[in-house]
Amino acid sequence: MKIFSSKPSQVGKENLPDVTCAYCHQKGNVDMHIFYRYYHLFGIPMFPHRRGGAIMCHNCKHVTNAKLFPIDLKERYLEIKSKYKAPWWHYFGSVSITILVVSFLSIRIFAYGTITLNKFLSSIKPNVIYKYSLSKKKYTFWKIARVNKDSVYYFPSNYQFSGTPPKEIDFSAEDFFDSTERLYLKSEFKTDFEASKIKKYK
Ligand SMILES: [Zn+2]
Repeated sequence: MKIFSSKPSQVGKENLPDVTCAYCHQKGNVDMHIFYRYYHLFGIPMFPHRRGGAIMCHNCKHVTNAKLFPIDLKERYLEIKSKYKAPWWHYFGSVSITILVVSFLSIRIFAYGTITLNKFLSSIKPNVIYKYSLSKKKYTFWKIARVNKDSVYYFPSNYQFSGTPPKEIDFSAEDFFDSTERLYLKSEFKTDFEASKIKKYK
């Protein structure tokens, strides 16, 4: 079997009671067969690509390809052909591959997000400084005071800035951070991190 090639499959068959066989001259034994060629990869159908047809006589077994049909038969062929679509299984391989790839990527993205989040949450330690977004392009700093199981205490800064923070900031300056601890739940931290509102700064 070829790795990738196409093969025909019959999608429809109709008897033509009024047609006389051009070879054995018997009437009513001629059937029209409609085929769909589909591409397959290692025998797994990927997608359909072309419809075709032929007539076959049961009596003398003679087959005539649609390309050789006389004009009146060609019209009937076009009419019959339009009734038959490719079956779902002709798409089986390509649909399965798409589902697999999408699932795989979703799992990877989800796992990556979880790792990043866990890394972020475990990095919350006393004295670590975070850049906190107050509104669009307006920021301040938070310094972590202490960390509990589900909550974090921090010292907010009175300092606020827009855009990029200045290079030299004296975080150790007196009054840079408020001396009163504020409570923040880790779940809030998580939400803010996911919304890119909070980032580790130093
Ligand atoms: Zn015949």
